[in-house]
This record gives sequence, C-alpha cells and structure tokens, in this order.
Amino acid sequence: MSGSSLAVADTPDQWLAGYFHTRAHLASRESDFHCNPACTRPGCRNISILVPVSLVDLLGVARHCQKSVAATYQRYYALGLFPHEQNDWIRKVALRLNKPCPFLEQDLCRIYPVRPLACVLFPEDLVRTGRFEIEAGKELFKEFLCLRSPMLLSPQRAEIVWRIKEMWEREMLISSYYLFNHGRCHLDVSNLTQEFLQVAATLGEAGALENPAPPNAIPNQVVELFFQKRLAGCQPFAGVGEKIALLDNREGQGQLLQLFQDDGLMQKLWRKWDDRDLVFRFAKGKLKSTRRSLLPHEYRFY
Ligand code: SF4
Repeated sequence: MSGSSLAVADTPDQWLAGYFHTRAHLASRESDFHCNPACTRPGCRNISILVPVSLVDLLGVARHCQKSVAATYQRYYALGLFPHEQNDWIRKVALRLNKPCPFLEQDLCRIYPVRPLACVLFPEDLVRTGRFEIEAGKELFKEFLCLRSPMLLSPQRAEIVWRIKEMWEREMLISSYYLFNHGRCHLDVSNLTQEFLQVAATLGEAGALENPAPPNAIPNQVVELFFQKRLAGCQPFAGVGEKIALLDNREGQGQLLQLFQDDGLMQKLWRKWDDRDLVFRFAKGKLKSTRRSLLPHEYRFY
C-alpha cells in the first residue's frame, strides 16, 4: 500500500478505522481458504511457532477488546527473537504474541477481525511464494490439516495476498523504527553459547544443549530468557513498554501515523534491508551494533 493512500485520513482515529476496514476486507476477499473444523489449531497453540505482530496489530486488538494499548501489550505480548532463514546464529527482534495464543477460545479466534496479518497470511502466502511443499514437509507443521494436500490460489487472490504481505512488511518496519529508532534489528548470538548453557541449567534444559550446541537446537525459550534478563534493558531495546504506552494517547498515535505516511523513510528502511542490516552483538556486558549483510555469499553482489 502506498503512502499516498494512507494519507487520506485526517486524524489517527480515522486513519486506524479506515486501515482496519481495508485489512479486514482484504483478509477474506477472493479467498477460498477456511480452517478445517477438525483442525486442533496447532498454529495457535504450539509455543515453537512464533507469531510476529506489528504495533498496528496491537492497536487493533486494544480497540477490539476496549482495553488500553499498554495493558493489552503487558498481558498478551512480548519482545521476541525470531530465527533468521539463512543464518542459524541470527535472531530478529520484534514484538510477538504470547504462546499458546491467549486469544484462542474453544478453538475460535477471539480477535478474528483484527488478528495479526501473520495469521491472515497463513497458509495462502506459502502457496503464493512457492514454499507450500517445503513447509508442509517440516516436522513442525505435521499436525496442520491445511498443509496435507495441495492448495490452489486464484491469480486474483494471489494479487491480494501480495498486497497484504506488503502491508505487513510496512507495518513491521515502521513498528521497529518506532520502538527501536531503527529498521529491522538483529542479534548475533554466535558468541553466547556458554550464557545459554547457564540459562538452560536454570530451566532444567541443560540436556537440550550440547557444547558447542548446534544453533538450531537451542530452545527459543532459552534465548528469549537470556534476552529478557540481560539485553532487553540495553538500548535500543530499553523503554519499549513506555513507547507502547504512548500509543494510548492521540499524540503517540499521531506520531505512528506520521511514520506510516513518510514514504521517504520507508524507502530508506527498505534500502537498508538485507544488504546493510543492523546486527547487535553482546560482549563484555555491552550491546554493540554493526551494519552487515545477512545474505549468504552466493546472493551478494558487491
Ligand atoms: S490471533 Fe487468532 S489466529 Fe492468530 S494465533 Fe491467536 S487465536 Fe490463532
């Protein structure tokens, strides 16, 4: 979605109302996908499947549940660490839903009209991007009834799913910028194996880690607990709760709206994606950042 189409609203409240209307409309338009009633909702329950959320997702839930944004965040969300597709030692820092999802009630989504775009996109975006078969074959997804047989996507729906994905990527980038004053932020955890072993011991999970641990064998719970204890209080991750609480007032929402309407900022954030990602490392009690490419060598052109 272009910045100009976002600029139609006059006030943050009008903008949010219009934006959520568009999101809900696109979520179902031209779609033939419906959850199988026999599905046990593994995507909503499994703690190993992380659901990233944007600040817009959070604002939508607060409005839907008629609660403050601050209270909604405290109760249902956290800063999470997401694995990187191409690098086992890299985690992306972003807001996530608590798991099992607190919004699942009697196998129904209590916030369905404003559910995160990550939930809306699954599984249709796997078909659109040609990743359906690969993901369907993974152990993590073996309980997903919707992945057991091939799925078709009409060209019209594929176009809409692409638009939703664009909205989602824009929301995630702006959220990261609002919260951390940067585009996407990553953490390189390759030097923290000993620290993870200590955290795992406190959780009784030491057996799950060998030394040196294969990176994809480190339980995310261990990495996130270390992050919460040692890193979440360091800049740029400190003060996230306070920044989110600002979204309960018109000024905070106005600031977020301004970021959404700033096409120049978006272009800058897009340009920094992948070829110059911001990567933090924790060493000697300090978080330090560098800009570097997270692409595998074969995809680099400089
Ligand atoms: S928000 Fe709704 S669809 Fe998404 S994980 Fe939670 S219950 Fe499932």
